[in-house]
Amino acid sequence: MANETTDGPPRSDDRARLVDQAVAALPIAVEIRAADGARLYANPAADAAADPKRRRETVSRGGRAALIETAVFWLGADSYSVSAAVDIDDERRLQDELFQRAYFDPLTKLPSRVFFEEAAARSLGGAPGQARFAVAAIGFDQFDSVNEFYGRSVGDALLAEAARRVGESIGGDDVAARFGGDQFAVLIAEPGEPAAALARIERLLARLRDPCHVAGVEILLSASAGVALSPTHDVAASGLIAKAEAALAQAKRRYRGQGRLYDPAIAQHALEHARIEQSLRLAVRDRRFACALQPKVDFRVGKIAGLEVLMRWRDENGDARSPGDLIAFAVNLGLMNEMTLLLFEETLASLDAIDAAFGPDLRLGFNIAAQQAGDIRFMRAFADRLSASGKAQRFTIELTEEALLRAAQFQLQVSPMLREIGAKISIDDFGVGYSSLSTLAEIDADEIKVDRSFITAIHERPRSQGLLRAIESLGEALGTPVMVEGVETKDELAYLRDHTRIRVAQGYLFSKPVMIGRSDNLGGDPAAAHIVGRAIAPSRVVDRRGR
Ligand code: C2E
Ligand code: CA
Ligand code: CA
Repeated sequence: MANETTDGPPRSDDRARLVDQAVAALPIAVEIRAADGARLYANPAADAAADPKRRRETVSRGGRAALIETAVFWLGADSYSVSAAVDIDDERRLQDELFQRAYFDPLTKLPSRVFFEEAAARSLGGAPGQARFAVAAIGFDQFDSVNEFYGRSVGDALLAEAARRVGESIGGDDVAARFGGDQFAVLIAEPGEPAAALARIERLLARLRDPCHVAGVEILLSASAGVALSPTHDVAASGLIAKAEAALAQAKRRYRGQGRLYDPAIAQHALEHARIEQSLRLAVRDRRFACALQPKVDFRVGKIAGLEVLMRWRDENGDARSPGDLIAFAVNLGLMNEMTLLLFEETLASLDAIDAAFGPDLRLGFNIAAQQAGDIRFMRAFADRLSASGKAQRFTIELTEEALLRAAQFQLQVSPMLREIGAKISIDDFGVGYSSLSTLAEIDADEIKVDRSFITAIHERPRSQGLLRAIESLGEALGTPVMVEGVETKDELAYLRDHTRIRVAQGYLFSKPVMIGRSDNLGGDPAAAHIVGRAIAPSRVVDRRGR
């Protein structure tokens, strides 16, 4: 402890007084206790009495950080100062480390996302909407497979090398950061025109494509990038970063290896997808599924020959929705199996209403998506449920050719399983799938349902007519009945009636799908029977001149 203001050494009793006063003034707590714990002495700091005349500084002592507190006190007319030094090297180191960890990525030594966000916010400065800069989000195209194939340590070395290249290719006022994983970001301080900003990012991507030599192997990578500009795309730092990342996601999906400028229309699309996903998940959670039924009509006699169950669900606004192209989407989200089982339960629960509306014991076509048909576990669960319902003999499972041909399992395992419990199998959308007519012979089906595209305007399309004739004779050779779907006009029906031996058809001409079910769910249409009855009245479908 240095004493700054002595005028030569004091005498010994003075010295004792001085030390006494110094300890009292000491800026750190001093307490003396007897062996029994009795407090013999405490300086004011120990009693938390603040001394206003204090100085605090941190210094380096022998390479370690120290905190020095200094207090001034008076003895008679003389002023003295007393200092206490505390070693804070460990705390300092910890603090530094925490700072480093928050602001820098340990692997690449690049600034972190937190640092980058703060830097971007600073660039926007006090004049939001004025600052011109760009944010680029950069991600490698298939980095996971690098880690998988070469191992993590090679992956890490590659990222460190990538960071070096990113760091090298930026300007003095730019900031490069690692956002975690294989994602990097660059803040371009003076981007110039959008095309110029993009060109700079393209050059960086080209640099990232140069071969990397790591652990004795040469590895080629490719990266994509998304770029958002201030103030064009957003005026907030967080918004800009989010938009650059949205553009990156878009690039990764459709423009691998390229840089893309943020495009609001695409973001809208992604938003719409997210909204539909949410809507679907909620519908599954709340079991808001119902069936619509569309008759299969024997138009030679004007009678309903069967029905097809079509999925409908109510969205949050209570509007009934049909699947359209959402089936593949639901399959990808992993929701389709549950949706299918929910629809099946709804069909069973509506069976009495269905019979009342369309007539008793009609066979029900039930759709299973191609991807589901190859999922043996799901198909087994579905067959079990079908069997347990005791109504399996009333169901025909409609599957596309893709399902039947792609999944060899289906022919070997699923098809026999369904047959055993009494269900039938129909090939849906026939003619547009993968099979050539010759492979049809390998498929064991109870019904062939010719795709709508063959039926549209068939009366004036000789090519479709020829194909339909070929499908028909093949069906006859196999002993499998052929039906058609998508009959919309009287001309189409007349062609079928006069130029084919087909008996059964489905389509808007007879009836659109009719919502039906328990009134507590989607509210079945009580007029269904009436509507359908009128639509397929024999006078309308059999009368040759009734076009
Ligand atoms: P799909 O199996 O070919 O079903 C027939 C679709 O064509 C239905 O549309 C139906 O409303 C429509 N349609 C019927 N007649 C006509 C017509 O004359 N003209 C026109 N333009 N269209 C007609 P929906 O209900 O929108 O279903 C579309 C597709 O969604 C279905 O095509 C099917 O592939 C799938 N789908 C529907 N329900 C289910 C289901 O429960 N499970 C599975 N896996 N897929 C389903
Ligand atoms: Ca179908
Ligand atoms: Ca179909």
